[in-house]
Amino acid sequence: MTEEKVLSYIKKCLDAGRMSEAIETSKIGKVELSKEELKNYIHTYLENGWVSRAVEGSKAAGIELPNEMLINYINKYLDDGRIYSANEASRIIGIPLPREKIIIMGRRCFLKGKLNAGLEAYKLLKENPPVEELIACGSVCFKEGQFYSGLEAYKLANKTPPEEELITCGNKCFNTGQTTPGLEAYKLANKTPAKEMLRVCGEICLLEKRHDEARKALVASQKIDEIKEEKPIEIKEISHKELRSLKEIEESLKSFGPGECLDCENGEEFKERLFLLSRCPEAGKEEEWLDKTMKEKYGVEHYAVGIFRDNKGLIGSAVCAKCGSHNVSFESGETRAYIELKK
Ligand SMILES: [Zn+2]
Repeated sequence: MTEEKVLSYIKKCLDAGRMSEAIETSKIGKVELSKEELKNYIHTYLENGWVSRAVEGSKAAGIELPNEMLINYINKYLDDGRIYSANEASRIIGIPLPREKIIIMGRRCFLKGKLNAGLEAYKLLKENPPVEELIACGSVCFKEGQFYSGLEAYKLANKTPPEEELITCGNKCFNTGQTTPGLEAYKLANKTPAKEMLRVCGEICLLEKRHDEARKALVASQKIDEIKEEKPIEIKEISHKELRSLKEIEESLKSFGPGECLDCENGEEFKERLFLLSRCPEAGKEEEWLDKTMKEKYGVEHYAVGIFRDNKGLIGSAVCAKCGSHNVSFESGETRAYIELKK
């Protein structure tokens, strides 16, 4: 090994907290490691909360780690909500953690949405966390888009998460590219997320190269399309006789028929065709679809649509028997004409 490689290996060991290995290597590779440098590393370990690594390192390096220093760190860990590190340090120096401080810390953790740290604190106290603190924690978790922690907190409190918190959480999840928890949050709230939000979520996942989550979001957004899109319109040609015998249709529509040829003013003789629509088309694409279908499937280019019942449609089309014009007006008693006349 070249000296450069030895140095980089030593640095790697020191960065990872493996001080005794670093010291071993420095002896074999005949590389000098200063006490000052090692001391700095031990402090870094303690800052990181790596208590046992700091203690082991200090032993290997022959650097004294005074109890007062560890007690200072314990207080710091408790203030920061780093219960694991505090507990580890207290075990090493053999001084139990102050109960009051743990309670304060546990509560603070819950209020910050740090469920596990809060639970750990109460575990040390051998007490169950108060229900209201768990709920407060669950709320914060949901607000921050930590769905599973929020759910766990509510479960431990034996409460059902409120719908609005679930929705907030779901939205936060989608806005941060967390497809699965977002979908679960919405499912639990028994709501459907906005298509656009799922699309945005999918795009975030794609950017972060999380392809499974991206696909999941995009598939979910397409499904919403399918749910929202109404059933296709069914068209059925009927005779006048059939129209008159229809019970569901309003009386006024039964006289639905051609009024006058707009080209030759003929008002009596027409070749008529009638069609029932399972529902009236939406403006735009569906209207275009209906025009195309009437033309291609039935050879009808001009027609009028009457509405009856809950948005069902009756199509009338007529050709003037005298001049052959399709330009025929329609009349239908008092019925609201949906489309006056298709030109
Ligand atoms: Zn005519």
